[in-house]
Amino acid sequence: MEIDENPKIHIPKYDGLPPTEKPLGDGYEMGKGNNPADSVFNRVLPNALTAKSDQLFALARKSSLWTLSFGLACCAIEMISAHASHHDLDRFGVVTWPSPRQADVMIVAGTVVKKMADSIKLLYEQMPDPKWVIAMGSCATNGGPYYKSYSVVMGVDHLIPVDVYVPGCPPRPEALIYGVMQLQEKIKNDANQSFEKESLNANEGEQQHIFKA
Ligand code: SF4
Repeated sequence: MEIDENPKIHIPKYDGLPPTEKPLGDGYEMGKGNNPADSVFNRVLPNALTAKSDQLFALARKSSLWTLSFGLACCAIEMISAHASHHDLDRFGVVTWPSPRQADVMIVAGTVVKKMADSIKLLYEQMPDPKWVIAMGSCATNGGPYYKSYSVVMGVDHLIPVDVYVPGCPPRPEALIYGVMQLQEKIKNDANQSFEKESLNANEGEQQHIFKA
């Protein structure tokens, strides 16, 4: 039996003319099977990066931090100033919000007296997850000028977890802005680290699977 070295396929024509011959698909080589087609994803978004949903959410969250607006003492004036037109914290997507129900970040700006402790804890608990806390100024960090006072809590981290400490008495608005930027960096890094941890666990799982096999 003769083997045809140059196979052709016959495409029927429906206009009444005889069928014409057409070579097999471009790039087809005998004995090498079909060329895999480009994935739909690559065709729609060529050279696009892929990322974990955690990392995408973290990017969105860090760029739209809503801060629970309440001030406890003189540091609050600097916080207000950071939000006002001269410093314009809105540039970073940071918007003050008067309710804990929709806020992402609590900025504890001022002296935390013991009378206020329960209210701060309640406000923190009313904030939805994920949530973050910035301790602004010496008082919120460790009692500041009221160190070992009978009526002052020696740092708000005795009540709730703190992510960023902004030093100063009072810190300037620029210092608070820098603190917010550090928090944004932390949110991004936390998402990347959880991604790396997951990949590590997945790899370990695969290796265990191989060992078991
Ligand atoms: S750190 Fe200084 S400026 Fe801020 S609340 Fe305490 S005493 Fe006032």
